Amino acid sequence: MKKLIFSLAALLCCSLAIAQTVVNSGFKELDQWTRQTLSERPYALGYPGNYDGQLEDFYTWYTGNRLGNILINNAGDPFEKSGALSSAKFEREVIEYFAPLYGFDTDDLWGIVTMSGTDGNNHGIYFGVNYLKNKTGKMPVVYVSDEAHYSNYRLCDLQNLDVRLVKSDDMGRMIPEELEKSLDASRPALIVYAMGSTFKGAIDDRTALQQVLDRHPEIPVYRHVDAALFGGYLPFTQYRDLVNRKKLNFESISISGHKFFGIDSPCGLLITTRDIYDNQNAFDVPYLNANMRMINCSRSGTDPLKFWWLIKKVGRKGWTRQARRIMDNTTYLMSELQRIGWPCWNNAYSNTVFFRRPADGLVAKYNLANSHDERFGGDLSHIVVMQHVTREMIDQFIADLQK
Ligand SMILES: *Cc1c(COP(=O)(O)O)cnc(C)c1O
Repeated sequence: MKKLIFSLAALLCCSLAIAQTVVNSGFKELDQWTRQTLSERPYALGYPGNYDGQLEDFYTWYTGNRLGNILINNAGDPFEKSGALSSAKFEREVIEYFAPLYGFDTDDLWGIVTMSGTDGNNHGIYFGVNYLKNKTGKMPVVYVSDEAHYSNYRLCDLQNLDVRLVKSDDMGRMIPEELEKSLDASRPALIVYAMGSTFKGAIDDRTALQQVLDRHPEIPVYRHVDAALFGGYLPFTQYRDLVNRKKLNFESISISGHKFFGIDSPCGLLITTRDIYDNQNAFDVPYLNANMRMINCSRSGTDPLKFWWLIKKVGRKGWTRQARRIMDNTTYLMSELQRIGWPCWNNAYSNTVFFRRPADGLVAKYNLANSHDERFGGDLSHIVVMQHVTREMIDQFIADLQK
């Protein structure tokens, strides 16, 4: 009954705002912020966060044991240590759970729970550089498409690397002929594949790009896959082979934890092989009694626990259901835009739909992300169909567009 009244109230206000009482913090500004955050949540359509997380009972357990008063720090190699006040054991189990989904064997495996997709890319690029340098004695050239996530260029800048931005086609995929033209045969190649370009949601055609690499067997190669968003749901769809290194090889992959998996603060996964890890620069740190080959010293001990919790609570079955729903709702959004004659596009396997940019008011209301591309008529916006983007929300958006 209460629920019914709440939903009626929500309908009356013509909004999908969450009818939720705010638990008082004792700080007015904080309570105001909480109210605002809860009411804005359903309108977050432009970015790939999952605002339908499943960690409520995790926090009940966590606060019930007053774990909030304890630092859990996973500094070090989760495949080596299981020290006190660390959740390294769970971090390792998380990596071992996810690794096979991306085609890694558990007996040739290394990985960590990262701070973000960017942190995973940082490790992938850093590991790739060191691996190639140690094998060949030469610094590699990095190749990445001009539609890939900007973090990759930033990280190459940070690591002071030679990077070649490879042109992509209209839909956002790296053009194989352009990769071939830009290849420097005198140096190893570090390729960063965009598995989900930022705005158009394009997946680089790794089969076609591999054919280019195969024509140049003299060039040693390391392939890192930036799969921050798509790497979350693809393993749970019929397109799972796209992220399986047994089908199409790569050396490392980075996935965000706060995108598809719905963890409530930025984190992610970096997965690679033991061989890659063993060919990194050794950093023996006596006071830690450890070999620190990863970039950061301290790492979150709570994020691995959240991942672990979700594996148990949501798991393959739940994620398969969620993946199907976001794929279905992506198709639904496309067909609704087409029905009202609004120019729109969607890459294969992608939950990102881009379309002619609506009026500023709608861009603000739905928190849309914008871009500009003359090949598609100029100003564009996109929606990333995550778990909280329901059919009702899509209907509301379409109705607003038609006004
Ligand atoms: C979101 C995203 C990133 C950045 O990941 P963060 O977790 O926000 O650091 C990198 N690459 C791609 C393809 C992304 O979608």
